[in-house]
Formats: sequence, structure tokens, C-alpha cells
Amino acid sequence: EAFNANVAAASALNAFIVTTPEKALEAAGAVDADRAAGKALGSMAGVPIGMKDLFATQGVQTTAASHILGGFVPPYESTVSSNLWAAGAGMLGKLNLDQFAMGSSNETSYFGNVISPWRSRDSNAELAPGGSSGGSSTAVSARLAPAATGTDTGGSIRQPAAFTGITGVKPTYGRCSRWGVVAFASSLDQAGPMARDIRDCAIMLGAMAGFDPKDSTSLDMPVPDWEAALNADLKGKKVGIPREYRMDGMDAEIEASWEQGKAWLRDAGAEIVDISLPHTKYALPAYYIIAPAEASSNLARYDGVRYGLRDLPEGAGLQDMYAATRAAGFGDEVKRRVLIGTYVLSAGFYDAYYTQAQKVRTLIARDFAEAFEQCDVILAPTTPSAAFPLGDKSDDPLSMYLNDVFAVPASLAGLPALSVPAGLTQSGLPLGLQIIGKAFDEQGVMNAGLAIE
Ligand code: GLN
Repeated sequence: EAFNANVAAASALNAFIVTTPEKALEAAGAVDADRAAGKALGSMAGVPIGMKDLFATQGVQTTAASHILGGFVPPYESTVSSNLWAAGAGMLGKLNLDQFAMGSSNETSYFGNVISPWRSRDSNAELAPGGSSGGSSTAVSARLAPAATGTDTGGSIRQPAAFTGITGVKPTYGRCSRWGVVAFASSLDQAGPMARDIRDCAIMLGAMAGFDPKDSTSLDMPVPDWEAALNADLKGKKVGIPREYRMDGMDAEIEASWEQGKAWLRDAGAEIVDISLPHTKYALPAYYIIAPAEASSNLARYDGVRYGLRDLPEGAGLQDMYAATRAAGFGDEVKRRVLIGTYVLSAGFYDAYYTQAQKVRTLIARDFAEAFEQCDVILAPTTPSAAFPLGDKSDDPLSMYLNDVFAVPASLAGLPALSVPAGLTQSGLPLGLQIIGKAFDEQGVMNAGLAIE
């Protein structure tokens, strides 16, 4: 009954693309059976979770919220989801997202936008749940699921978490296997947990992470017990405040929440230090070259032959079939990214755009490496504003992209970063604060997050 009530709420918010209650019930049943048999329970035993529809799930439709994957039912399971099932979790369903994880508002989904459960005190406008993990953020925020998986290429775990008042952790690049995750920009894509608080994220990340020989960029390192080592005492720790993140015309409420964050971390024993990340302003343009470049290559596999949709006009040849399938199957934002990507990779422009962006990426990684000689973690806002109304930015890609300004630097550098709820605006909307850490130091990042929550 509770599940059916939740399903009704879920359909109003459009958080799920498909629901699989039988799988969640099966996991719950397994807990009783294992208990009766005296077997040890996994860390996620019986926990019903939502799965972003970017993870391949065996026997359950996987679409990346794109028409081009219409009807695709994978014969295999992603490593991250199978790790979660092995830890005892059960799947409530597949969650809506921006098409191929491209977007910041969940409005590029073929299945329609997700609606945030939040409303401003000043207006009744429906708000964006953030993106691309908007189904995940909404499912957790609206209490349709205690936790959900997300993926973060340039902010897609952190930004939706901030918009909906939940916690989301993007681990170090390579912590979670990308095998069986629909590829967007392979050098950036990273899975992570989205849940109500740091502790739940620590438990879930522990279940998701781990070396996978099937992903060549997977980290061959032991997975620490992050939950056991959670500690909000930051005595002896230094928290860096990057001066370049204080942008002209920064929203006063964002600035105030950043100040509040500093105070909380100081109260927890940390020392606040001023740091510099000089190449910050080049991060967003570099990201919007590198991510589309990789996407244009990754998406070449959707040719109407191998997966999902095939549009074969009467008497058409192979080229016509490619063209018709892609014209019908890809949404506008996906087409925009493929066009940008193929342009920046083309012979005449490669050096001017792609090579240049890769150099910038190196400079950004170096900025962080130098900054981390002076501090243990970095504190910054997650987003430049609270959630915006649906439709506000959907016709203006540039202003949509600008939403990622604080999120992409950590992505380009492959660093662990999280967003944790940090209070409400005057109009009652959640704000998030971001903690960025050294490579492999998810613990330090989550401990600082714990001191804020
Ligand atoms: N909003 C960013 C983009 O559209 C990030 C997406 C993501 O992290 N998947 O590319």
C-alpha cells in the first residue's frame, strides 16, 4: 500500500521511467530468509533503491532517457548495480534523467521533465530538480526512495542534490566502475550515491565502489570502510576557500551560505585558509569542449543497427537509415553536443579547441594539486543559485551551462566532491555546499560534509 501511494506520488513528479516493485520485495524477502538461515547480511540488505536509468540492468529496459534506446533491454548488468544487489539492495525502478545525462534540469529527457517536490514561498512555479540525476534527486527528496544512484560528469550528482536538499557524493574518478553505465564523456563519468545524509552515502558508496577489471580506468585500490571512519571533528584540518570562486555579481544568499559553511567548519575545529585556483574561469569552457568531444565519439554507436530504435525509410540505404534513426532518436541537446563535439575534433579545429581544452584541464588539475599543499579540503558553493523554475533556461543553453560553473573543476581534475544541504533561502529553497578533496580522500570529504550537516 505504501508502495502504491509512493508510485502515485512518483508518477506526479515523473521521477521514475519504469518501476520494479517486485525486485525491491524480493530483496526484502531475502533479508528474512538470510536471517532465518543465520547468514550475515550485506551492508544494503533489504534497502529499496532507485537506479538512474543510465545503468544497464539485466532484463529491465535501459534508455538513458533517449528515444534512440527505445525498447533496449540489456542482457547484462552494470558492475555498480550488481555490486549493490550483492550487498542486498533491491531495485524500486529506473529513474528519469536528462537524455544521455546531458543537462542541468532534467528537461532534456525523452520521457518529459521531472518536477522537484520543492516550491518557493514566493511563487507556485514548478521547479527544476537539477540534472542530470533529476529523477534520483527527486526520488530521495520526496521520500520515494531512501537512496538512489547518480552519475556525475560535470556536476550531475552534486547540482541536483543541492537543488533538492539532499546529499550526493561524486567519488574520485575510477572508484566506481563505468562498466555497464551508458557512456557520456568517459574521462569524466563517475557514479556515486545520492541519499538523505552523509552516513547513508558512505554506506552506499562502500557497496558501489571497487576495482573492476572490465573498466580500464577502474582504481585498483582497496575500498575503505568509510562509514566506520566518519568523524565530524576537524581539529588539525585546514579548509581552503578558493578566492576565484567569489565571482562578480554572486547571489547574496549563496555568499551568505558559504560564510555560514565556513563558520560551521570552524566550529568543528578546522582552520580556514585562503587559497587560489587561478585557472577556474577556463574550466567551464574547457568542459564544454571535452565533454561534447567525448560524447560525439561515444554516441557514434547508436546507429540503428546495434541498439534500440531503427528508422528504415522505404527503399533507404545504410546512410539514410543512420540519418533517419539519429534524427528521430536523439533529442535537441544531444544533437547540439554531437555537433559541438565533431566540430572541435575536426582536422581544422582540433588544435584550436580540443588540444587547448586538454591543456587547460592539466592546468586545472595542477591548480588543485598546489592548493592541496595548503589545505585538506576545499569549501565552495555547489551552484550559483537555488533551483530555478522549469522552462526558465531550457531555451538558453549558455545560461544552462553556466549553472555548472562550480561543479566542473573537480570533474576535470577527477577529484572527490560532494554536496551537502546547507539551509534554505529566504523563499524556502534548499542550498547546497560543496566539499572538494584530494584524490582518493573520500573520507576527508565526507568528514567535512558531516561537520556541515
Ligand atoms: N550539466 C552538465 C552537462 O550538461 C553535467 C552533466 C553531468 O554531469 N552528467 O554536461
